[in-house]
Amino acid sequence: MAKIGIPRTLAYFSYYPFWETFFSQLGHEVVVSSPTSKAILDKGVKEAVNDACIPIKIYHGHVADLAGRVDFIFCPRMVSVRKYGDFGTETFCPKFLGLPDMVRLSMSELPPIIDVRVDLKQGRKAMDQVCQEIGRLLGNPEKEVESAQKKATAVQKKYDRLLQQEILPDEAMTMALTPGATPQSSQPVQPDLKIAVLGYPYTIYDHYLNVGLLSILRKENVKVYTQDMLRNKTMNKYGQTLPKNMFWYYSNRAVNATLYYLDRPDIDGIIHVTAFACGPDSMVDRLMEIETHRRSKLPFLSVAIDEHTAETGVRTRVEAFLDMLRYRRESL
Ligand code: SF4
Repeated sequence: MAKIGIPRTLAYFSYYPFWETFFSQLGHEVVVSSPTSKAILDKGVKEAVNDACIPIKIYHGHVADLAGRVDFIFCPRMVSVRKYGDFGTETFCPKFLGLPDMVRLSMSELPPIIDVRVDLKQGRKAMDQVCQEIGRLLGNPEKEVESAQKKATAVQKKYDRLLQQEILPDEAMTMALTPGATPQSSQPVQPDLKIAVLGYPYTIYDHYLNVGLLSILRKENVKVYTQDMLRNKTMNKYGQTLPKNMFWYYSNRAVNATLYYLDRPDIDGIIHVTAFACGPDSMVDRLMEIETHRRSKLPFLSVAIDEHTAETGVRTRVEAFLDMLRYRRESL
């Protein structure tokens, strides 16, 4: 039995239920890094290359948090997770593509890294190969791997369904991974406002990184909608209203979800959470704002986060935005 360390950031928010189930079914122990904190951020800033975006720096901090207490760090090379239909292809952003190399070269005294290449452009069969490769590395027989993959796929589907029921990831993960748990949501039942909070999962759902944005909104009785609550099919349909896609997987999801929520009459406003030094976001943020103004009259707020972001600054801007939304609703 090996101890497998999974950093609690980046693809964690999208695929943790799959990998947790897969490794556990194979008889290994999964260790997740601690929630992001100042100590993790400081370690990440120290270890990562200077010009990396803040989520990548934080990723290095999570790896440092795991080093020394696990046998392997799970750091797959995320290339693509789907075919993208008739209007182009897409990959994860270049930082994801080079992540295992970046970690290996910038950090010392790490346990071995499981850096399987996840590239599902050719179809979902490629996932069988990814799982078998991990099985071979960890010494698990083929049949055991097949069965673990099957169970992991079922749990991941359950997680995705819970997200589509408008449950946020923290809660959806617990429910997907705990047999018999019944759906519940910490979202307000009778919200005062409904806001689409869009961006990359690791910027929206990491409470430390975005200085508690979702908690601020919850206290203000705001119901939050994110791209992860939508089906791929729905988002792709809206994506097809643009001349071309953004090429990067998470960017496509953020942009296409914006277009969808702009069409929903019950949504009061859009917040884009964007990371400092993110290459794709220099275009994504602008495109989201332009399309918001072109297709609707909805107010748009962009919240940029970096290692110096203070809770007071974000709270003040968000509260002013909510006041403006309430004033707007009354005048309408
Ligand atoms: S999409 Fe942007 S924030 Fe995310 S890893 Fe790539 S550069 Fe960093």
